[in-house]
Amino acid sequence: MNDAPPRPVAEAAGNSARPPEGNLQAPTRHALDWRNPEFYDEGALQKEQARIFDICHGCRRCVSLCGAFPTLFDLVDSSSTMEVDGVAKDDYWKVVDQCYLCDVCYMTKCPYVPPHPWNVDFPHLMLRAKAQRSRDRPVPARDRLLTSTDAVGKLATIPVVVQAANRANTLPVVRKAMQSVLGIAEDAWLPPYATTRFRASVTPSLQWPVRSGPRAPGKVAIFSTCYVNYNEPGIGHDLVKLLAHAQVPYVVVASEVCCGMPKLEVGDLAGVEALKLRNMPVLAALARAGYAILTPVPSCTLMFKQEMPLLFPEDDDAPIVADAMFDPFEYFVMRERDGLLQKTFKRALGKVSYHIPCHSRVQNIGQKTREVLEWIPDTTVNTVERCAGHDGTWGVKREFFADSMKIGKPVFQRMNDFEPDYISSDCPIAGRRIEQGIVAAGGRKVRKAHPLTLLCIAYGLD
Ligand code: SF4
Ligand code: SF4
Repeated sequence: MNDAPPRPVAEAAGNSARPPEGNLQAPTRHALDWRNPEFYDEGALQKEQARIFDICHGCRRCVSLCGAFPTLFDLVDSSSTMEVDGVAKDDYWKVVDQCYLCDVCYMTKCPYVPPHPWNVDFPHLMLRAKAQRSRDRPVPARDRLLTSTDAVGKLATIPVVVQAANRANTLPVVRKAMQSVLGIAEDAWLPPYATTRFRASVTPSLQWPVRSGPRAPGKVAIFSTCYVNYNEPGIGHDLVKLLAHAQVPYVVVASEVCCGMPKLEVGDLAGVEALKLRNMPVLAALARAGYAILTPVPSCTLMFKQEMPLLFPEDDDAPIVADAMFDPFEYFVMRERDGLLQKTFKRALGKVSYHIPCHSRVQNIGQKTREVLEWIPDTTVNTVERCAGHDGTWGVKREFFADSMKIGKPVFQRMNDFEPDYISSDCPIAGRRIEQGIVAAGGRKVRKAHPLTLLCIAYGLD
């Protein structure tokens, strides 16, 4: 029996009935129906995988984006039929494992996303597979550890523990053990933990008058993020300095837990929901009180801007929070367009190699960080818009580390070839990976600084 997936309807019906190549309407995205029992039906998933894989096989536009598409096309090309029906269903997992849910194929490449009748949502298809696996078998200890950013951060930043944890992370013998026992790649640079957490050390805001503009509210709530709170609090302090310099009153979100992106990446949707239930009421109250909510890590911004409303369409708070969420540079540009941000700089930055991470690209806000950096006199920005390969927790896993460095290689090279004074990325872990890639390729050591830090330097606030 031939269990080949049906060809897309229009193709089977002949070219005259074929839908147009791309959408003429704006793309939309359907909510993820993850509580429907069919979502977890293996046969239904494989049928949908076969349908979408077949469309991708005929299209192949995404071949250079990540490892998922080359893996799929290699499987097809080496199969007996050279079609998707020749690929063993078990091998579909090889494709799923190469997807780190960056959303770039959906948001920037695919002409067949809804409302196109072919309804291709490749990342959500991959997420469905990860969710099935996460529900049907125990989550490995390594993934539990990597996705428990809050619990691990709290433990690792306890005085004395923090020094021991940071020291251990640099010891080859410990890293070898972590690789063999936990599956965390021994060569991946891991961020050290901070001795003082961001949330415990924020300078309180002065009570400047609230000056709202038509584009952006005049007061800010900071969702600090696990990474900034536990690993690089300096980025959060730089955001605070910039808000103070612009005389924007701010608060730190009274209680926050992880945004849920790490759990989403491994398909742990129940885990995402548990975190959402704690964050969403607090953030919704701030949004309703007229705050702009800023997060200094693009993945966390994206989680609230896009993923939450798609995962929890029944939650009335989700769109309210999504509307109040800003990338910090999106916020600064809006303030500037509202005539409420001064642009008198004290220091030039010289040559900056700036990387736009995937989770910034897919926010559909344009290149706001580049725009702000280009306000600074005597500063030349080399913008690199390509995946750096780290992708949340994916790039530190033993089995993916080499692939991840390969994906990032063109970025490392283009950042370094510019002979910059600074390398920078909105995503701090991508910035760390770029630094590692440049060093690994024998490039000279260049100062790495987050764009918020660069802006502080330019304003003379460092
Ligand atoms: S979401 Fe990202 S990683 Fe996944 S298939 Fe698309 S481009 Fe590749
Ligand atoms: S996701 Fe869309 S653009 Fe990418 S290969 Fe598949 S059909 Fe083509």
